[in-house]
Amino acid sequence: MLDGSSGPSSIGGYCLLEQEDVMDEMTGENADNTAAQRRTELSDLRVVVDRIEGRSVCGLRPGDSFDVTCSSRLSIPAGRHFCLYALSAVLPLLPAAQRSVDPDDWLASDEVACPDPEERLIMRIERTGRRSIPTEDLT
Ligand SMILES: [Zn+2]
Repeated sequence: MLDGSSGPSSIGGYCLLEQEDVMDEMTGENADNTAAQRRTELSDLRVVVDRIEGRSVCGLRPGDSFDVTCSSRLSIPAGRHFCLYALSAVLPLLPAAQRSVDPDDWLASDEVACPDPEERLIMRIERTGRRSIPTEDLT
């Protein structure tokens, strides 16, 4: 829900607030989850090139990665790049990876391949942290 107080600066704020919230959760505080305080539990993710079984076409190396934090913020380490097609392959899986999925569900798999058959580039999705974000900050 957007109101006059929402904007880039308040969006920037929720991630800072959130790190404090994670600590609160560890101590069991933050228990009242009223409708006005709905929260979305999301993992921060790192997508890492695990291995390249074929020929590296797009210049990625094992260990190359990008991060997704605060639900939707993608960042790539300075001076590195990421393959657009590898990104397109992993993108649909990220909302599930951010959430708790039944371990028997195929979406719980944390490996995905770049679609280039020459490359056979395998990425793995790592969870780097957990955030509890006010839901209204996300919509
Ligand atoms: Zn590629």
